[in-house]
Amino acid sequence: MRDSVEPLTKYERSRKKMVETQIRARGITEARLLAAMERVPRHLFVSEAFSEKAYGDHPLPIGEGQTISQPYMVATMIDALDLQGEERVLEIGTGSGYQAAVLAELSAQVFTIERIPSLGTRARELLENLGYTNIAFRIGDGTIGWREASPFDAILVSAAAPKIPKALTEQLADGGRLAIPIGGSLSQVLKQVTRRGEALETRTVCGCVFVPLIGRDGWP
Ligand code: SAM
Repeated sequence: MRDSVEPLTKYERSRKKMVETQIRARGITEARLLAAMERVPRHLFVSEAFSEKAYGDHPLPIGEGQTISQPYMVATMIDALDLQGEERVLEIGTGSGYQAAVLAELSAQVFTIERIPSLGTRARELLENLGYTNIAFRIGDGTIGWREASPFDAILVSAAAPKIPKALTEQLADGGRLAIPIGGSLSQVLKQVTRRGEALETRTVCGCVFVPLIGRDGWP
């Protein structure tokens, strides 16, 4: 545990500021989520060239034409899942692994799928080195979900789809929540879908811009 008189490091100060000015100030107040985002060292999930910019109010490149999402968007999506701590969570689009780390802080078990092998492998090495033991990794097409591990209490898709992939709602537990950006290539809306028996309750959370979800039930 931190000695209370020990000064915060530069990155700890940046994280505190990020949470206060970008997340809490915009209305996200869930204490466990804010604390998790204050803990996860986001600067380690980008290349050294970007580590000074890691706590800025924007997405950043992570290679292969992909991005680590803006901190506020990470918080908004996770907030829409309403995690209490005991959930099994499926994430589509591991990317840098940052959002998987925040999810792992807030739930019992995370299953994360990435279609680009170099990204998936790098994220896995980093998350294992950071000591996360509750994340399972897969390289492949996340639009078909992870049937053997289903049902999931929450599913987060961090790439934009033309429509909600059917496999994902089928793999959602009753009462489970799905957060997914839906729309065209230039902009989308973040949808929160709650499963109630065979019915799906859908609400629009906010506008957003994501890289495309590419796969069988995504973009070609
Ligand atoms: N959550 C990530 C993070 O914290 O860094 C950011 C994800 S990035 C915005 C979207 C990711 O989704 C990219 O890494 C992309 O390769 C991946 N992706 C796109 N289509 C996919 C699919 N069908 N299955 C799995 N991953 C996919």
